[in-house]
Amino acid sequence: MNDELLLVGARVIDPLNAFDGLRDIGIRDGVIVDPATLHAVERLNLKGKVVAPGFIDLHVHLRYPGQTHKEDIRSGTAAAAAGGFTTVLAMPNTVPAVDNPALLADVLRKAATEGAVHVLQAGALTVGRQGEEVTDIAGLKAAGAPVVTDDGSTPQQAAVMRQAMIAAAAAGIAVIDHCEDTNLARPGVMHDGAVARELGLPGQPRSAEEVIVARDIVLAAETGCRLHLQHLSSAGSVAMLRLAQQQGLPVTGEVCPHHLFLTDEACRTFGVNAKMAPPLREEADRQALIEGLRDGTLCAIASDHAPHSAEEKAAGWNKAPFGIVGLEAAVPLCLTELYHRGVLTLSQLIALFTVGPRKVLGLPIGSLALGATADVTILDPDAEHSISVESFASRSRNCPYEGWKCRGKVVGTLVGNTRFLSADYAD
Ligand SMILES: [Zn+2]
Repeated sequence: MNDELLLVGARVIDPLNAFDGLRDIGIRDGVIVDPATLHAVERLNLKGKVVAPGFIDLHVHLRYPGQTHKEDIRSGTAAAAAGGFTTVLAMPNTVPAVDNPALLADVLRKAATEGAVHVLQAGALTVGRQGEEVTDIAGLKAAGAPVVTDDGSTPQQAAVMRQAMIAAAAAGIAVIDHCEDTNLARPGVMHDGAVARELGLPGQPRSAEEVIVARDIVLAAETGCRLHLQHLSSAGSVAMLRLAQQQGLPVTGEVCPHHLFLTDEACRTFGVNAKMAPPLREEADRQALIEGLRDGTLCAIASDHAPHSAEEKAAGWNKAPFGIVGLEAAVPLCLTELYHRGVLTLSQLIALFTVGPRKVLGLPIGSLALGATADVTILDPDAEHSISVESFASRSRNCPYEGWKCRGKVVGTLVGNTRFLSADYAD
């Protein structure tokens, strides 16, 4: 492959550098360079397309090690590339959990050879994710973890979380947290509301999330630890996060497409493919999450890509695992529902996949500046299409969006020297 490439004709949107306009982008050896310095140039004509910094997904389950019947590094990162993401943050709730520097380094080594996109690996907060003994957080950071989390759960004892935050603050990395009080959440399988009562299913109250959000904010204030709240689902959580930010606390939050575009009503239609943790809530919560994006309280949209096999999901409401695959639907859904409906500008939407995640990770990514790694997401913001779950590169199919009509799609991703262009891309 030619190691020089010129992207021509596109509208370039680079929110970190406050750029939105027509510009050519030069790439040499996987790095963004001044187009004037290129020699024997191959051109990619992107007229009518949008070129953005490579999207970053802060919440992905690649299921390696231990659960590769659901997904593995190869299939999960292929799904990421197809979905427009050039960097993913893998969660450590694997089997075994990624709770020590040696295993973390092993995952990163494997991802460097097998991954289609850049893989970052979060370290676990507690040993075995048991919520009791804090891991070697400084060691995990030294091995490459940009953040730590027990995602899938959180330490139930505040004292353990406090100790973890003290260690993370000392190591200079953020704690990112799955806010769920297990005793309040169990045995709920969906949001505790009118729909759950009608369906006769046990519900999870908002308090299961909100008491942990409150606890974490108090502990972050006391310890000075950088805190990021994962997949927020309730209006109360957004309100507490907003207040914490107004007080100047180092707290950020993310939201997932399913909490933005679905409510607990979806549990009637989609069955266990609407079973998530935290659960889909009510319209007022959905509106509060959208407002949180609009006013900047929430800095990132993350997929919480959670693949499970058809057999596992077939176990029914009470036994099936929580979660849906999201990498390949997230960007088209957000373009359709947030950009085309006028909730956010294209630049604001792109910032939620680039600038926000960059801030959480504390890494110099998500920018098209000269000298940056040539991680690029190419969008056709107006292309009409329907989501086809069968066409997903992911190994799993647990997804409620089959046949959803979308406007706006990902036509390609460039990951350094590697190109992924969709089959219908026409030069
Ligand atoms: Zn989670």
